Amino acid sequence: MANEPQQKLEQLKQRLAEVWDLNQALWVLEWDQATYMPDAGGAGRGRVMATLTSLAHEKFSDAEIGHLLDALQPWAETLPYDDPQAALVRVTRRAYEKTVRVPTAFAAAFAEHRAGTYQGWVEARPANNFARVRDGLERTLDFSRQYADFFPGYEHPADPLIDEADYGMKAQTVRALFTQLQEALTPLVTAITAQREADEEPLHRGFPADVQRAFGEAVITDFGFDFNRGRQDLTHHPFCSRFNTGDVRITTRFREDDLGDGLFSTLHESGHAMYELGVNPEFDGTPLGSGTSAGVHESQSRTWENLVGRSRGFWEHYYPKLQATFPGKLDDVSLYQFYRAINKVQRSLIRVDADEVTYNLHVIIRFGLELDMLEGNLAIRDLPEEWGARYEKALGVTPPEDRLGVLQDVHWYSAPIGGVFQGYTLGNIMSATFYNAALAAHPEIPNQIRQGQFGTLHGWLRDNIYHHGSVFTADELVQRITGAPLSIDPYLAYLRGKYGELYSLPA
Ligand code: ZN
Repeated sequence: MANEPQQKLEQLKQRLAEVWDLNQALWVLEWDQATYMPDAGGAGRGRVMATLTSLAHEKFSDAEIGHLLDALQPWAETLPYDDPQAALVRVTRRAYEKTVRVPTAFAAAFAEHRAGTYQGWVEARPANNFARVRDGLERTLDFSRQYADFFPGYEHPADPLIDEADYGMKAQTVRALFTQLQEALTPLVTAITAQREADEEPLHRGFPADVQRAFGEAVITDFGFDFNRGRQDLTHHPFCSRFNTGDVRITTRFREDDLGDGLFSTLHESGHAMYELGVNPEFDGTPLGSGTSAGVHESQSRTWENLVGRSRGFWEHYYPKLQATFPGKLDDVSLYQFYRAINKVQRSLIRVDADEVTYNLHVIIRFGLELDMLEGNLAIRDLPEEWGARYEKALGVTPPEDRLGVLQDVHWYSAPIGGVFQGYTLGNIMSATFYNAALAAHPEIPNQIRQGQFGTLHGWLRDNIYHHGSVFTADELVQRITGAPLSIDPYLAYLRGKYGELYSLPA
Protein backbone atom coordinates (compact mmCIF):
# COMPACT_ATOMS: atom_id res chain seq x y z
CA MET A 1 0.00 0.00 0.00
CA ALA A 2 1.40 3.30 -1.12
CA ASN A 3 0.17 5.25 1.90
CA GLU A 4 1.26 2.73 4.47
CA PRO A 5 4.31 4.73 5.62
CA GLN A 6 2.11 7.80 6.12
CA GLN A 7 -0.28 5.79 8.30
CA LYS A 8 2.56 4.42 10.37
CA LEU A 9 4.08 7.87 10.64
CA GLU A 10 0.78 9.20 11.97
CA GLN A 11 0.64 6.40 14.54
CA LEU A 12 4.18 7.21 15.59
CA LYS A 13 3.42 10.94 15.90
CA GLN A 14 0.36 10.19 17.99
CA ARG A 15 2.40 8.15 20.44
CA LEU A 16 5.13 10.78 20.54
CA ALA A 17 2.56 13.52 21.21
CA GLU A 18 1.40 11.64 24.32
CA VAL A 19 4.96 11.37 25.58
CA TRP A 20 5.53 15.08 24.94
CA ASP A 21 2.25 15.97 26.69
CA LEU A 22 3.55 14.24 29.80
CA ASN A 23 6.92 15.95 29.39
CA GLN A 24 5.21 19.29 29.03
CA ALA A 25 3.33 18.76 32.30
CA LEU A 26 6.63 17.83 33.93
CA TRP A 27 8.37 20.96 32.62
CA VAL A 28 5.54 23.18 33.89
CA LEU A 29 6.01 21.66 37.35
CA GLU A 30 9.78 22.17 37.16
CA TRP A 31 9.25 25.79 36.14
CA ASP A 32 6.77 26.25 38.98
CA GLN A 33 9.18 24.69 41.49
CA ALA A 34 11.87 27.15 40.46
CA THR A 35 9.60 30.23 40.46
CA TYR A 36 6.48 30.29 42.66
CA MET A 37 6.27 27.06 44.68
CA PRO A 38 6.74 27.44 48.46
CA ASP A 39 9.93 25.68 49.56
CA ALA A 40 7.91 23.34 51.79
CA GLY A 41 6.30 21.84 48.67
CA GLY A 42 9.54 20.21 47.59
CA ALA A 43 8.97 16.64 48.79
CA GLY A 44 5.43 16.40 47.43
CA ARG A 45 6.50 17.95 44.14
CA GLY A 46 9.37 15.49 43.82
CA ARG A 47 6.91 12.61 43.98
CA VAL A 48 4.66 14.05 41.26
CA MET A 49 7.66 14.65 39.04
CA ALA A 50 8.84 11.08 39.58
CA THR A 51 5.40 9.77 38.60
CA LEU A 52 5.26 11.85 35.42
CA THR A 53 8.85 10.96 34.54
CA SER A 54 8.08 7.30 34.87
CA LEU A 55 4.86 7.56 32.79
CA ALA A 56 6.66 9.45 30.02
CA HIS A 57 9.56 7.04 30.13
CA GLU A 58 7.28 4.01 30.00
CA LYS A 59 5.30 5.38 27.08
CA PHE A 60 8.39 6.34 25.11
CA SER A 61 10.09 2.98 25.64
CA ASP A 62 6.98 1.05 24.51
CA ALA A 63 8.01 -1.71 22.11
CA GLU A 64 5.37 -0.52 19.63
CA ILE A 65 7.40 2.63 19.04
CA GLY A 66 10.33 0.38 18.17
CA HIS A 67 8.16 -1.61 15.74
CA LEU A 68 6.89 1.55 14.05
CA LEU A 69 10.45 2.85 13.71
CA ASP A 70 11.58 -0.48 12.23
CA ALA A 71 8.72 -0.41 9.74
CA LEU A 72 9.40 3.21 8.76
CA GLN A 73 13.18 2.99 8.51
CA PRO A 74 13.48 1.63 4.92
CA TRP A 75 11.04 4.28 3.65
CA ALA A 76 12.73 7.08 5.61
CA GLU A 77 16.07 6.12 4.09
CA THR A 78 14.72 6.80 0.60
CA LEU A 79 13.99 10.43 1.57
CA PRO A 80 16.57 13.23 1.45
CA TYR A 81 18.59 13.54 4.65
CA ASP A 82 17.11 16.93 5.54
CA ASP A 83 13.52 15.89 4.90
CA PRO A 84 11.62 16.48 8.17
CA GLN A 85 9.98 13.04 7.99
CA ALA A 86 13.32 11.31 7.52
CA ALA A 87 14.70 13.39 10.37
CA LEU A 88 11.77 12.47 12.60
CA VAL A 89 12.46 8.77 12.14
CA ARG A 90 16.23 9.22 12.55
CA VAL A 91 16.11 11.45 15.64
CA THR A 92 13.30 9.52 17.32
CA ARG A 93 15.24 6.30 16.87
CA ARG A 94 18.30 7.82 18.46
CA ALA A 95 16.31 8.97 21.49
CA TYR A 96 14.30 5.76 21.66
CA GLU A 97 17.35 3.53 21.69
CA LYS A 98 18.81 5.51 24.54
CA THR A 99 15.58 5.50 26.51
CA VAL A 100 14.97 1.76 26.30
CA ARG A 101 18.36 1.09 27.85
CA VAL A 102 17.43 3.00 31.00
CA PRO A 103 14.92 1.20 33.25
CA THR A 104 11.81 3.25 34.06
CA ALA A 105 12.27 2.70 37.80
CA PHE A 106 15.77 4.16 37.56
CA ALA A 107 14.58 7.23 35.63
CA ALA A 108 11.84 7.88 38.18
CA ALA A 109 14.08 7.34 41.21
CA PHE A 110 16.75 9.65 39.78
CA ALA A 111 14.14 12.35 39.02
CA GLU A 112 12.78 12.20 42.57
CA HIS A 113 16.28 12.28 44.00
CA ARG A 114 17.18 15.36 41.96
CA ALA A 115 14.04 17.22 43.04
CA GLY A 116 15.21 16.60 46.63
CA THR A 117 18.81 17.72 46.07
CA TYR A 118 17.57 20.85 44.27
CA GLN A 119 15.50 21.77 47.31
CA GLY A 120 18.50 21.00 49.54
CA TRP A 121 20.67 23.31 47.44
CA VAL A 122 18.14 26.15 47.66
CA GLU A 123 18.58 26.03 51.45
CA ALA A 124 22.28 25.10 51.56
CA ARG A 125 23.63 27.87 49.34
CA PRO A 126 22.51 30.92 51.37
CA ALA A 127 23.43 29.03 54.57
CA ASN A 128 26.89 28.25 53.14
CA ASN A 129 26.32 24.67 54.23
CA PHE A 130 27.89 22.09 51.90
CA ALA A 131 27.36 19.34 54.49
CA ARG A 132 23.59 19.78 53.91
CA VAL A 133 23.92 18.53 50.31
CA ARG A 134 26.97 16.25 50.54
CA ASP A 135 25.15 12.92 50.98
CA GLY A 136 22.67 13.82 48.25
CA LEU A 137 25.51 14.66 45.90
CA GLU A 138 27.16 11.32 46.63
CA ARG A 139 23.98 9.58 45.55
CA THR A 140 23.81 11.78 42.46
CA LEU A 141 27.30 10.62 41.55
CA ASP A 142 26.20 6.99 42.03
CA PHE A 143 23.14 7.59 39.87
CA SER A 144 25.26 9.28 37.20
CA ARG A 145 27.71 6.37 37.03
CA GLN A 146 24.86 3.87 36.97
CA TYR A 147 23.34 5.81 34.09
CA ALA A 148 26.61 5.53 32.17
CA ASP A 149 26.67 1.80 32.83
CA PHE A 150 23.45 1.38 30.87
CA PHE A 151 25.62 2.16 27.83
CA PRO A 152 28.41 -0.39 28.03
CA GLY A 153 31.34 0.10 25.70
CA TYR A 154 31.83 3.80 26.40
CA GLU A 155 35.37 5.16 26.38
CA HIS A 156 34.72 7.41 29.35
CA PRO A 157 31.83 7.24 31.88
CA ALA A 158 31.05 10.87 31.00
CA ASP A 159 30.42 9.97 27.34
CA PRO A 160 26.81 8.77 27.66
CA LEU A 161 26.01 11.84 29.78
CA ILE A 162 27.69 14.24 27.35
CA ASP A 163 25.93 12.50 24.47
CA GLU A 164 22.57 13.24 26.12
CA ALA A 165 23.20 17.02 26.01
CA ASP A 166 25.65 17.39 23.11
CA TYR A 167 24.98 14.45 20.84
CA GLY A 168 28.06 13.14 19.09
CA MET A 169 30.59 14.68 21.51
CA LYS A 170 32.90 12.61 23.70
CA ALA A 171 34.94 13.46 26.81
CA GLN A 172 38.09 12.96 24.77
CA THR A 173 37.11 15.44 22.01
CA VAL A 174 35.84 18.02 24.45
CA ARG A 175 38.95 17.74 26.60
CA ALA A 176 41.19 18.29 23.57
CA LEU A 177 39.23 21.37 22.49
CA PHE A 178 39.22 22.77 26.03
CA THR A 179 42.96 22.22 26.51
CA GLN A 180 43.60 24.17 23.30
CA LEU A 181 41.30 26.94 24.46
CA GLN A 182 42.80 27.15 27.95
CA GLU A 183 46.30 27.41 26.49
CA ALA A 184 45.17 30.39 24.44
CA LEU A 185 43.09 32.06 27.17
CA THR A 186 45.57 31.91 30.04
CA PRO A 187 48.12 34.30 28.44
CA LEU A 188 45.28 36.56 27.27
CA VAL A 189 43.98 36.85 30.85
CA THR A 190 47.52 37.56 32.08
CA ALA A 191 48.05 40.27 29.46
CA ILE A 192 44.71 41.93 30.20
CA THR A 193 45.00 41.86 33.98
CA ALA A 194 48.42 43.52 33.70
CA GLN A 195 46.66 46.59 32.23
CA ARG A 196 44.70 49.31 34.01
CA GLU A 197 41.50 47.83 35.47
CA ALA A 198 38.13 48.87 34.12
CA ASP A 199 36.02 50.69 36.71
CA GLU A 200 32.69 48.97 37.27
CA GLU A 201 31.55 51.25 40.09
CA PRO A 202 28.84 52.84 37.88
CA LEU A 203 27.04 49.46 37.71
CA HIS A 204 26.66 49.36 41.50
CA ARG A 205 24.88 52.63 42.11
CA GLY A 206 21.49 51.21 43.08
CA PHE A 207 18.97 50.58 40.32
CA PRO A 208 15.33 49.77 41.26
CA ALA A 209 14.52 46.18 40.24
CA ASP A 210 11.19 46.97 38.58
CA VAL A 211 12.81 49.62 36.37
CA GLN A 212 15.62 47.21 35.46
CA ARG A 213 13.03 44.66 34.53
CA ALA A 214 11.08 47.03 32.28
CA PHE A 215 14.28 48.13 30.51
CA GLY A 216 15.41 44.53 29.86
CA GLU A 217 11.97 43.54 28.60
CA ALA A 218 11.93 46.50 26.20
CA VAL A 219 15.32 45.45 24.80
CA ILE A 220 14.32 41.82 24.22
CA THR A 221 11.09 42.97 22.61
CA ASP A 222 13.33 44.87 20.15
CA PHE A 223 15.35 41.66 19.67
CA GLY A 224 12.15 39.91 18.61
CA PHE A 225 11.17 38.01 21.78
CA ASP A 226 7.41 37.62 21.48
CA PHE A 227 5.64 38.29 24.80
CA ASN A 228 2.43 36.94 23.27
CA ARG A 229 4.13 33.55 23.24
CA GLY A 230 6.31 33.93 26.31
CA ARG A 231 6.83 35.56 29.68
CA GLN A 232 9.53 36.39 32.19
CA ASP A 233 9.47 35.53 35.91
CA LEU A 234 11.90 35.58 38.82
CA THR A 235 14.05 32.71 40.10
CA HIS A 236 17.32 31.85 41.91
CA HIS A 237 19.20 30.58 38.87
CA PRO A 238 17.87 31.92 35.56
CA PHE A 239 16.74 29.44 32.91
CA CYS A 240 14.43 29.09 29.92
CA SER A 241 11.62 26.54 29.52
CA ARG A 242 9.82 25.54 26.38
CA PHE A 243 6.39 24.00 26.87
CA ASN A 244 5.21 24.34 23.29
CA THR A 245 5.66 26.64 20.34
CA GLY A 246 3.21 29.13 21.83
CA ASP A 247 4.60 29.11 25.38
CA VAL A 248 8.32 29.64 25.99
CA ARG A 249 9.25 31.21 29.32
CA ILE A 250 12.34 32.82 30.68
CA THR A 251 13.38 33.63 34.23
CA THR A 252 15.80 36.10 35.70
CA ARG A 253 16.79 37.75 38.97
CA PHE A 254 17.69 41.32 39.84
CA ARG A 255 20.17 42.86 42.23
CA GLU A 256 19.62 46.53 42.85
CA ASP A 257 23.34 46.96 43.49
CA ASP A 258 24.34 45.29 40.22
CA LEU A 259 22.84 46.55 36.98
CA GLY A 260 24.55 43.92 34.85
CA ASP A 261 23.27 40.83 36.63
CA GLY A 262 19.59 41.00 35.74
CA LEU A 263 19.95 42.75 32.40
CA PHE A 264 22.46 40.36 30.85
CA SER A 265 20.65 37.36 32.22
CA THR A 266 17.45 38.60 30.55
CA LEU A 267 19.31 39.07 27.25
CA HIS A 268 20.91 35.64 27.66
CA GLU A 269 17.69 33.76 28.35
CA SER A 270 15.90 35.62 25.56
CA GLY A 271 18.43 34.05 23.16
CA HIS A 272 17.47 30.57 24.38
CA ALA A 273 13.80 31.50 24.10
CA MET A 274 14.01 32.96 20.59
CA TYR A 275 15.68 29.73 19.47
CA GLU A 276 12.75 27.71 20.85
CA LEU A 277 10.16 30.16 19.51
CA GLY A 278 11.75 29.92 16.07
CA VAL A 279 11.57 26.13 15.74
CA ASN A 280 9.27 24.97 12.94
CA PRO A 281 5.86 24.69 14.73
CA GLU A 282 5.14 21.49 12.81
CA PHE A 283 7.76 19.77 14.97
CA ASP A 284 5.82 20.40 18.20
CA GLY A 285 5.23 17.28 20.25
CA THR A 286 8.10 15.33 18.66
CA PRO A 287 11.82 14.97 19.40
CA LEU A 288 12.51 17.46 16.56
CA GLY A 289 10.61 20.21 18.33
CA SER A 290 13.35 21.97 20.25
CA GLY A 291 16.95 23.15 20.05
CA THR A 292 19.38 20.51 18.91
CA SER A 293 22.03 20.50 21.64
CA ALA A 294 23.16 22.26 24.78
CA GLY A 295 26.07 23.78 22.87
CA VAL A 296 24.00 25.15 19.99
CA HIS A 297 21.48 26.46 22.52
CA GLU A 298 24.17 28.27 24.44
CA SER A 299 25.58 29.69 21.21
CA GLN A 300 22.25 31.48 20.75
CA SER A 301 22.00 32.83 24.30
CA ARG A 302 25.60 34.04 24.08
CA THR A 303 25.02 35.68 20.72
CA TRP A 304 22.32 37.96 22.14
CA GLU A 305 23.94 38.46 25.53
CA ASN A 306 27.54 39.04 24.45
CA LEU A 307 28.15 39.42 20.73
CA VAL A 308 25.18 41.79 20.51
CA GLY A 309 24.42 42.90 24.09
CA ARG A 310 27.97 43.65 25.22
CA SER A 311 29.05 45.24 21.95
CA ARG A 312 29.87 48.89 21.56
CA GLY A 313 27.47 49.33 18.64
CA PHE A 314 24.55 48.04 20.69
CA TRP A 315 25.21 50.53 23.47
CA GLU A 316 25.57 53.42 21.03
CA HIS A 317 21.83 52.98 20.62
CA TYR A 318 20.81 51.88 24.12
CA TYR A 319 23.11 53.81 26.44
CA PRO A 320 21.28 57.16 26.08
CA LYS A 321 18.04 55.25 26.73
CA LEU A 322 19.55 53.60 29.81
CA GLN A 323 20.73 56.97 31.12
CA ALA A 324 17.23 58.37 30.65
CA THR A 325 15.68 55.32 32.34
CA PHE A 326 17.66 55.94 35.54
CA PRO A 327 17.70 59.76 35.79
CA GLY A 328 20.79 61.17 37.48
CA LYS A 329 22.46 57.79 37.97
CA LEU A 330 24.78 57.62 34.97
CA ASP A 331 25.07 61.25 33.88
CA ASP A 332 28.78 61.41 34.67
CA VAL A 333 29.59 58.10 32.96
CA SER A 334 30.52 58.21 29.28
CA LEU A 335 29.46 55.56 26.79
CA TYR A 336 33.04 54.32 26.63
CA GLN A 337 33.35 54.10 30.43
CA PHE A 338 30.10 52.16 30.55
CA TYR A 339 31.24 49.87 27.72
CA ARG A 340 34.46 49.18 29.64
CA ALA A 341 32.53 48.55 32.88
CA ILE A 342 30.27 45.90 31.34
CA ASN A 343 33.31 44.21 29.78
CA LYS A 344 35.61 44.29 32.78
CA VAL A 345 37.95 41.31 32.76
CA GLN A 346 38.98 40.00 36.15
CA ARG A 347 40.02 36.87 37.96
CA SER A 348 36.83 36.05 39.85
CA LEU A 349 35.00 33.32 41.73
CA ILE A 350 31.49 33.22 40.25
CA ARG A 351 30.95 31.71 36.81
CA VAL A 352 27.68 33.42 35.97
CA ASP A 353 29.20 36.83 36.77
CA ALA A 354 32.39 36.14 34.85
CA ASP A 355 33.45 38.20 31.84
CA GLU A 356 33.76 36.68 28.37
CA VAL A 357 37.50 36.08 28.62
CA THR A 358 37.66 34.23 31.95
CA TYR A 359 34.23 32.57 31.69
CA ASN A 360 35.45 29.50 29.89
CA LEU A 361 38.12 28.85 32.52
CA HIS A 362 35.28 28.46 35.06
CA VAL A 363 33.62 25.92 32.79
CA ILE A 364 36.83 24.05 32.08
CA ILE A 365 37.42 23.67 35.85
CA ARG A 366 33.96 22.17 36.35
CA PHE A 367 34.29 19.89 33.35
CA GLY A 368 37.58 18.54 34.70
CA LEU A 369 36.05 17.97 38.16
CA GLU A 370 33.13 16.09 36.59
CA LEU A 371 35.45 13.76 34.70
CA ASP A 372 37.49 13.08 37.84
CA MET A 373 34.41 12.39 39.95
CA LEU A 374 33.01 10.01 37.34
CA GLU A 375 36.36 8.25 37.05
CA GLY A 376 36.32 7.70 40.81
CA ASN A 377 39.42 9.86 41.27
CA LEU A 378 37.70 12.57 43.25
CA ALA A 379 35.37 11.93 46.19
CA ILE A 380 32.48 14.27 46.98
CA ARG A 381 33.89 14.96 50.46
CA ASP A 382 37.08 16.30 48.83
CA LEU A 383 35.22 18.35 46.25
CA PRO A 384 35.18 21.75 48.05
CA GLU A 385 38.92 21.64 48.63
CA GLU A 386 39.73 20.45 45.12
CA TRP A 387 37.45 23.16 43.74
CA GLY A 388 39.51 25.75 45.59
CA ALA A 389 42.82 24.28 44.45
CA ARG A 390 41.78 24.34 40.79
CA TYR A 391 40.52 27.91 41.03
CA GLU A 392 43.82 28.95 42.49
CA LYS A 393 45.71 27.22 39.70
CA ALA A 394 43.60 28.36 36.73
CA LEU A 395 42.39 31.77 37.88
CA GLY A 396 44.61 32.74 40.80
CA VAL A 397 41.72 33.05 43.27
CA THR A 398 40.47 30.79 46.08
CA PRO A 399 36.87 30.87 47.35
CA PRO A 400 36.81 31.88 51.03
CA GLU A 401 33.57 29.92 51.53
CA ASP A 402 31.58 27.21 49.72
CA ARG A 403 28.81 29.60 48.80
CA LEU A 404 31.34 31.26 46.50
CA GLY A 405 32.72 27.88 45.45
CA VAL A 406 31.12 24.51 45.04
CA LEU A 407 27.62 25.66 46.07
CA GLN A 408 27.33 28.43 43.47
CA ASP A 409 25.83 26.52 40.53
CA VAL A 410 22.54 24.66 40.57
CA HIS A 411 23.61 22.00 38.05
CA TRP A 412 25.02 19.15 40.10
CA TYR A 413 22.08 19.58 42.48
CA SER A 414 19.41 19.33 39.80
CA ALA A 415 20.98 17.24 37.03
CA PRO A 416 23.45 14.36 36.69
CA ILE A 417 27.13 14.93 37.41
CA GLY A 418 28.60 14.92 33.92
CA GLY A 419 27.30 16.26 30.65
CA VAL A 420 26.06 19.55 32.05
CA PHE A 421 28.92 22.02 31.74
CA GLN A 422 30.69 21.39 28.42
CA GLY A 423 27.77 22.91 26.50
CA TYR A 424 28.51 26.38 27.89
CA THR A 425 31.94 26.58 26.37
CA LEU A 426 31.02 24.72 23.19
CA GLY A 427 28.29 27.34 22.90
CA ASN A 428 30.72 30.23 23.23
CA ILE A 429 32.92 28.71 20.56
CA MET A 430 29.95 28.18 18.24
CA SER A 431 28.49 31.64 18.90
CA ALA A 432 31.36 33.36 17.09
CA THR A 433 31.32 30.71 14.36
CA PHE A 434 27.63 31.28 13.55
CA TYR A 435 27.78 35.05 14.03
CA ASN A 436 30.61 35.32 11.50
CA ALA A 437 28.49 33.39 9.03
CA ALA A 438 25.55 35.76 9.61
CA LEU A 439 27.85 38.77 9.06
CA ALA A 440 29.27 37.25 5.89
CA ALA A 441 25.73 36.86 4.53
CA HIS A 442 24.61 40.30 5.77
CA PRO A 443 27.48 42.77 6.28
CA GLU A 444 24.90 45.42 7.21
CA ILE A 445 24.12 43.73 10.57
CA PRO A 446 26.58 45.76 12.74
CA ASN A 447 25.16 49.02 11.38
CA GLN A 448 21.63 47.85 12.06
CA ILE A 449 22.56 46.94 15.64
CA ARG A 450 23.80 50.52 16.07
CA GLN A 451 20.24 51.62 15.22
CA GLY A 452 18.61 49.11 17.57
CA GLN A 453 17.43 46.97 14.63
CA PHE A 454 17.80 43.22 14.90
CA GLY A 455 15.46 41.83 12.26
CA THR A 456 18.17 40.80 9.79
CA LEU A 457 20.24 38.97 12.39
CA HIS A 458 17.19 37.37 13.99
CA GLY A 459 15.91 36.32 10.56
CA TRP A 460 19.22 34.75 9.57
CA LEU A 461 19.42 32.82 12.84
CA ARG A 462 15.83 31.70 12.48
CA ASP A 463 16.30 30.45 8.92
CA ASN A 464 19.67 28.81 9.44
CA ILE A 465 19.45 27.51 13.01
CA TYR A 466 16.17 27.93 14.90
CA HIS A 467 13.78 26.67 12.23
CA HIS A 468 15.53 23.28 11.97
CA GLY A 469 14.88 22.31 15.60
CA SER A 470 16.71 19.03 16.07
CA VAL A 471 16.75 17.98 12.40
CA PHE A 472 20.53 18.45 12.29
CA THR A 473 23.08 17.64 14.98
CA ALA A 474 25.41 20.37 16.23
CA ASP A 475 28.24 19.04 14.04
CA GLU A 476 25.97 18.96 10.99
CA LEU A 477 24.79 22.52 11.59
CA VAL A 478 28.35 23.81 11.91
CA GLN A 479 29.34 21.93 8.77
CA ARG A 480 26.31 23.15 6.78
CA ILE A 481 26.79 26.76 7.83
CA THR A 482 30.57 27.08 7.65
CA GLY A 483 31.60 24.17 5.40
CA ALA A 484 34.13 23.07 8.02
CA PRO A 485 34.24 21.30 11.40
CA LEU A 486 34.09 23.26 14.67
CA SER A 487 37.20 25.29 15.39
CA ILE A 488 38.10 27.60 18.28
CA ASP A 489 39.73 30.12 15.89
CA PRO A 490 36.76 32.44 15.14
CA TYR A 491 35.99 32.67 18.85
CA LEU A 492 39.59 33.44 19.79
CA ALA A 493 39.82 36.03 17.01
CA TYR A 494 36.66 37.68 18.38
CA LEU A 495 38.01 37.79 21.95
CA ARG A 496 41.44 39.00 20.88
CA GLY A 497 39.95 41.70 18.66
CA LYS A 498 37.48 43.05 21.19
CA TYR A 499 39.64 42.85 24.31
CA GLY A 500 42.85 43.75 22.52
CA GLU A 501 41.25 47.08 21.70
CA LEU A 502 39.61 47.54 25.11
CA TYR A 503 42.84 46.90 26.96
CA SER A 504 45.26 48.31 24.35
CA LEU A 505 47.10 45.03 23.93
CA PRO A 506 49.84 44.74 21.28
CA ALA A 507 48.31 43.19 18.12
ZN1 ZN B 1 22.33 29.57 28.82
